[in-house]
Amino acid sequence: MGQAMELLKERIRRDGKVKGTDVLKVDSFLNHQMDVELFAEIGKEFKRRFAGCEINKILTIEASGIGIACVVAQYFHCPVIFAKKTQTKNIAGEVYTAKVESFTHGRVYDIIVAKEFLGPGDKVLLIDDFLANGNAAKGIMELVKQAGAELVGMGFIIEKAFQHGGDELREQGIHVESLAIIESLDNCEIKIR
Ligand code: 5GP
Repeated sequence: MGQAMELLKERIRRDGKVKGTDVLKVDSFLNHQMDVELFAEIGKEFKRRFAGCEINKILTIEASGIGIACVVAQYFHCPVIFAKKTQTKNIAGEVYTAKVESFTHGRVYDIIVAKEFLGPGDKVLLIDDFLANGNAAKGIMELVKQAGAELVGMGFIIEKAFQHGGDELREQGIHVESLAIIESLDNCEIKIR
């Protein structure tokens, strides 16, 4: 395993805070303040893990995925598309849409991507900050499917293994790479695999 990932795990152990029973806050380097030099190491690591894969678009979801996806994209030399969250009910035929149940708020929202930016022939890598139950990932899969594009794989900074979204995605044959896998947050203790 790369040194970068040791760096990430150290950072999670040092700065991560457990909220409630199942939420990890990493606001000091990922979700609010952003350590872009760490992001660059993460980008290199994803490039290594998806070496040999043809990828021409990176897809993420606003807002928390955008920063990391932009840095990762520099190593893949391709654009980033962020799916927009929207409350608009009747959206014209110019967009692909999917519903996502929000992990942090429990609400259901729509995500959209304009048809002009995604279509058949595109080879897509999803990049996101967290993988929990996998609902955001499934929403992205739906958009990729509607576009007739190909989902090459998914890369997450942090996967919470005790929430099983990752198991489900891997069982479907999706190439999922998570850089730090959290076994448990029980008793406010961060256990990393
Ligand atoms: P999922 O859709 O896989 O259940 O949840 C993934 C999304 O919820 C991520 O895009 C992330 O924004 C948010 N999320 C899930 N779990 C956590 C967590 O423990 N901490 C933070 N900061 N965000 C989370």
